[in-house]
Amino acid sequence: AAQPYDAIVLGAGAAGMMCALTAGQRGLRVLLIDHGDAPGRKILISGGGRCNFTNLHTAPDRYLSANPHFAKSALGRYSPQDFLTLIERHGIAWHEKTLGQLFCDGSARQIVDLLMQECAEAGVTLLLGHPVAAIAQRDGLFHVTRNGIDLAARALVLATGGPAIPKLGATGFAYDVARQFGLSVVQPRPALVPFTLGAEEALFQSLSGVATEVEVHWQKTRFREAALFTHKGLSGPAMLQISSYWQHRTPIAVDFAPDAAPGWLVEHKQRQPRGAVRRVLASGLPARLAEVLAERLGLDGELGTITDKRLRAAEAQLARWPFQPNGTEGFAKAEVTAGGIATRELSSRTMMATRVPGLYAIGECVDVTGWLGGYNFQWAWASGWAAGQALAEA
Ligand code: FAD
Repeated sequence: AAQPYDAIVLGAGAAGMMCALTAGQRGLRVLLIDHGDAPGRKILISGGGRCNFTNLHTAPDRYLSANPHFAKSALGRYSPQDFLTLIERHGIAWHEKTLGQLFCDGSARQIVDLLMQECAEAGVTLLLGHPVAAIAQRDGLFHVTRNGIDLAARALVLATGGPAIPKLGATGFAYDVARQFGLSVVQPRPALVPFTLGAEEALFQSLSGVATEVEVHWQKTRFREAALFTHKGLSGPAMLQISSYWQHRTPIAVDFAPDAAPGWLVEHKQRQPRGAVRRVLASGLPARLAEVLAERLGLDGELGTITDKRLRAAEAQLARWPFQPNGTEGFAKAEVTAGGIATRELSSRTMMATRVPGLYAIGECVDVTGWLGGYNFQWAWASGWAAGQALAEA
């Protein structure tokens, strides 16, 4: 039989490529396998084609996980600056957009090319285009059957991501392999995903395409970013962010006037008693939204005709407008999967399964999920680097 590899990495996405090149650079014989015809397909479509490849404000509290401490070690040892150094070494031009989000000036293709070049220079073998049929462990080796051929390695790294956007070849394969080896999986759910609203909110569906800056609240969590009305419900960065925290059958609350001072409607009335409510609202909000909100509040007509009490109640409602999503657009539209391989099964330093020596899990398939804005790629780089480094030390 052929000489076994030091490591087989399953999944040539962000995490898998980073792990493979890190281990390869340290002299390991690494085989990288993907069932797709090309590596890094999610990278290519990410960040609107420009890849939001990291976030300068990366910190463990911007990640969701059953164990909020788990991501600290890897994130602490491979930082946004480390990835930026790599980007600059390859001469890739980049810019900061908002909120610490870094994008390529050119195209996400440059990130995939960088990773592929680093893999090639590190001697990584890449096999594309066939699914893995079976995985087994015997004689101290992991055996992977692919296209009728048995491939063996001392270590196996699960980097096949989660089931978000199945039409890009995303699968729950990593969970199946984890369960095969007796590892528990935290129920995967769509995250960074648009909400759907029921028929009772039909008025808002007429606003499809309207966007405005809001502060959205769910329990104690809040985000201040743009919200977008869609024909199905609510999207935009604010809604995607809060969707990762949201639980079914609970309301979210939207502050449509996050900068307004207390008493602003009453004050407006004193200054402009002849002003129409919807005009006043339209000074800070898109006109169509202002109209729908005024209609929902039952406040038509001039400010001067409305009591202060009703105006104060309207203010309170505008600051905490309740929406009860009836669901989300699901994995088909989710940017990431929350949940995944339970962190308690893994070493936070090496990403190795503590009960299955030689088996590692990295990237999105692990129960660590970042905010919108480059945090998920930073987790992929950091966890991939940690495992690649650990493979070389093992
Ligand atoms: P992936 O990158 O998904 O890689 C997994 C690989 O495994 C894939 O190549 C897949 O083909 C392969 N695979 C799956 N199943 C199998 C199988 N059974 N056998 C063999 N191979 C398999 N994050 C950011 O930080 N910034 C962004 O700008 C951003 N934009 C995004 C835009 C969109 C539309 C989407 C969907 C996601 C975006 N994300 C972004 C999230 C980010 O893409 C993921 O978090 C990240 O790609 C996860 O990396 P990964 O390596 O764990 O998994």
